[in-house]
Amino acid sequence: MADELETFRREVRDWLEANCPSEMRTPMRSEKDVCWGGRNFTFASDAQKQWLEVMAQRGWTVPDWPKEYGGGGLSPAEAKVLKQEMAALGCRVPLQSFGISMLGPALLEYGTEEQKLEHLPKIARGEIRWCQGYSEPNAGSDLASLATSAEDKGDHFLVNGQKVWTSYADQADWIFCLVRTDTSQKQGGISFLLFDMESEGVSTKPILLISGSSPFCETFFDDVKVPKDQVLGEINQGWTVAKYLLGHEREMISGMGGRAQGPSLSEYALGKLGRDEQGRLDDPVLRARIAMFEVRSHAFAAMSERFMDRLKAGRIHPAQPSMMKYYGTELNKDRHELLMAAGGSDALEWESESSGEGKAARAWLRTKANSIEGGTSEIQLNIIAKRILELPEG
Ligand SMILES: Cc1cc2nc3c(=O)[nH]c(=O)nc-3n(C[C@H](O)[C@H](O)[C@H](O)COP(=O)(O)OP(=O)(O)OC[C@H]3O[C@@H](n4cnc5c(N)ncnc54)[C@H](O)[C@@H]3O)c2cc1C
Repeated sequence: MADELETFRREVRDWLEANCPSEMRTPMRSEKDVCWGGRNFTFASDAQKQWLEVMAQRGWTVPDWPKEYGGGGLSPAEAKVLKQEMAALGCRVPLQSFGISMLGPALLEYGTEEQKLEHLPKIARGEIRWCQGYSEPNAGSDLASLATSAEDKGDHFLVNGQKVWTSYADQADWIFCLVRTDTSQKQGGISFLLFDMESEGVSTKPILLISGSSPFCETFFDDVKVPKDQVLGEINQGWTVAKYLLGHEREMISGMGGRAQGPSLSEYALGKLGRDEQGRLDDPVLRARIAMFEVRSHAFAAMSERFMDRLKAGRIHPAQPSMMKYYGTELNKDRHELLMAAGGSDALEWESESSGEGKAARAWLRTKANSIEGGTSEIQLNIIAKRILELPEG
């Protein structure tokens, strides 16, 4: 088994060497380098397009999905080897999407065969980009209070209502959306719908953020017709699907706490502040904070690896993604606080060319959202208290 894995590792390395364009082996410079795919996506370069195509052809945009749905059919151990070899060569992730990290797992678990065959290969090839219609103006942390209605019209639903904070809704092709199909029950009256954002009656309005970008929208539904076969799972059982998907979303967001590409925090701080006579970072307070951060960061990396192994083996507690999400996002916020502290006033530059148009400051502000998106830190702590520590309700 170990021999087979080593053979596989060599094959993967050779294949990556031969097929990953050199431009795709450099760290991403900004969000603009992320390949999201979709009908409206404009590739940043030919190399980016080529990298997506060769990886999708091999099924390696979603290495552990079954081959019949566009995946690579790799075992968890093989998928891990691929990830390690890509990291060793500095290969960029060829495709990032909510289809891969959120909807795909839910489709694999709850989809009909027709739904899987229709949607999964298009996600794997980066042809269709999905957005997530969960939150509403009066339903965020208390998501089950959602009010967007889906009225039963025989062969279809008529959807009316509003979502908010819908990331990239103005660029997405399809939405996975929570709607109310029964007003007599809270969780038990929710269904999980899939529909095209080009359907008549769907409109979006981008929301401008403090960071200067506009990554999410208000999304409005005005008599949108959705065929009944586009319900994922059973009617009125959407809460079960929604929670399953949230586990995968939280797992994905927790990854932000992982070690970033490029120089480590210590290397960056040394470059900015220099060394004292003993060769240490020339700022004792920051040195202590960075040392503590590095310890926590290594501990989190070790815990993440164990978590992923157990997840792939189907052996995690259902509330464990909340633990990972809480710690990973708080860690990522700390990392950017320290980067700003080490960078001094230069790091606050907002528009100059030398600062990469405020790359550090904008990234720092963006991390503030990490502990809100996918459920706030307070909500994760409530889940951990209730479901893992089994504490009584406060
Ligand atoms: C960057 C970003 C991207 C997002 N993308 C999407 C998306 O694509 N699709 C989507 O549907 N949503 C998205 N969201 C929305 C996100 O899921 C919600 O913002 C989040 O669930 C919190 O809901 P809320 O904003 O309504 O805050 P509220 O629920 O109003 O919470 C306000 C404050 O009260 C606290 N609070 C609330 N209830 C409790 C409680 N019971 N115990 C303790 N504290 C509590 C919260 O922790 C928070 O600090 C995104 C959010 C961000 C920041």
